[in-house]
Amino acid sequence: MTLRLFNTLTGQLDDLVPSDGLALRMYACGPTVYDFGHIGNFRTFLQVDVLRRFLKLTGVNVLHVMNITDVDDKIIRNAAAAGIPISEYTPRFIDAFFEDLESLRVERPEQIARATDHIDRMVELVQRLAAVGAAYKTEDGSWYFRLAAFPEYGKLSKKDLSGMEDGARVDVDEYEKDSARDFALWKAVKPGETSWDTPIGRGRPGWHIECSAMAMEYLGESFDLHAGGEDLMFPHHENEIAQSESVTHKPFARHWMHVRFLLVDGRKMSKSEGNFYTLRDLLLKGYKASAIRMALISVPYRHQLNFTFDGLTEATNAIERLRTFHQRLLQGNFAAGANPALRAAAEKAQADYMAALANDLNTAEARAPIFDLIRTSNTAIDQSQFFAGDRDAILAVLASFDAVFDVIEDRDAEPTRRAVEWAEKAGRVADIAPGLLARESLNDEAIDALVAERTLAKKQRNFARADQIRNELAEKGILIEDSKDGVRWKRK
Ligand code: AMP
Ligand code: ZN
Repeated sequence: MTLRLFNTLTGQLDDLVPSDGLALRMYACGPTVYDFGHIGNFRTFLQVDVLRRFLKLTGVNVLHVMNITDVDDKIIRNAAAAGIPISEYTPRFIDAFFEDLESLRVERPEQIARATDHIDRMVELVQRLAAVGAAYKTEDGSWYFRLAAFPEYGKLSKKDLSGMEDGARVDVDEYEKDSARDFALWKAVKPGETSWDTPIGRGRPGWHIECSAMAMEYLGESFDLHAGGEDLMFPHHENEIAQSESVTHKPFARHWMHVRFLLVDGRKMSKSEGNFYTLRDLLLKGYKASAIRMALISVPYRHQLNFTFDGLTEATNAIERLRTFHQRLLQGNFAAGANPALRAAAEKAQADYMAALANDLNTAEARAPIFDLIRTSNTAIDQSQFFAGDRDAILAVLASFDAVFDVIEDRDAEPTRRAVEWAEKAGRVADIAPGLLARESLNDEAIDALVAERTLAKKQRNFARADQIRNELAEKGILIEDSKDGVRWKRK
């Protein structure tokens, strides 16, 4: 099965296949580590995770590179405000970022590339650009890309750049929405700023050059896919193309994927509007990491996701349905045999699920047949029409669902525990939902009582309640072990 993915460059759905027949070589712009990641950032990283997981599910190997922008205007500004060098400022946000990705079960890219580890490569690229007349040095010792040297500029964003001012320059990393200008490749050192002594002078890289240099370092001059949020299409990605193709004369990335921006309560997320959330903010409010993952991926990447707390509750309920059903399959005692209608339903659900994802990663359409199958199976179980032979077929469908969605196995306790621990250290105890603190303080007697209640619930075949208790305890870091000698529990 081949994934048809919208390609910003061609403006249509194109097949996404490894051009070297071995692995899909992809680059996704990573975070700028000046603060904690917000849910908009994570929506984009999660959608790239959906992409790579689906490719793997269809048997395609991936070689995925993600950069970490650990030097830029904002980082320099924030580090200066904190009175520490950027090399001390960024590591905690890099660690926090990976911790957040882990909480959201985002797979690690095969290659992580920090900008400050690749200064040499960037300098080399500036030199190559200068050699072909596409880069020039200004009086202060900075280097700029000469837009006039790349007539194809604008081919990705399809912007009409006819009014482009020849020779006008821009040197800030922050986005310029509608004007195309010569942009900074290398910024001459300013007093008090981090800088590197290099053959092109003392200074630091501009933002765009890092992605061209690192993508080509790990993926070659021409590779399969480049991804990022839609805000990066112009000018960042347009600039990456210009910098790279001016020296290689080869298509930089063949396929470009852009994730639509997330809104919160119908508005652009912003701190001043009070609708700005990091992952940690939501975990501290008591939402589960799996629900946040589910809510952020369930709207397909090219559709506008309007994030709301109702949406998070819907995701929480959907996961509960999945987990309860999964437990029901695992724990049920089904008579020997098989129900041909269920086998057919499982095959159809699997085919519809795969087809929806293969069609431009339509996660919303992919969910529907899975929940239909759950409904059909539950009815069959209730009517004693579900047999041991049906269990494996349906578990296999759930497994391929979870290969991409990854929400069925309950691993929500750890992210919440980590967030609470972090909040306590960061002086944000007031933000921890009371329920989370109460859970933390469960004493042994309370745990014994819950474990006993669970044993009773199982005897009464009230598996929903038994699971609920098990999950509640797991969230508090308490593991129940069933053995033939009885039930034991321990703290993780
Ligand atoms: P940054 O750390 O600002 O460089 O952004 C990291 C990634 O998150 C980039 O791919 C951005 O395009 C993406 N991003 C930032 N804000 C949002 C948003 N509100 N919705 C979706 N993606 C976003
Ligand atoms: Zn980039």
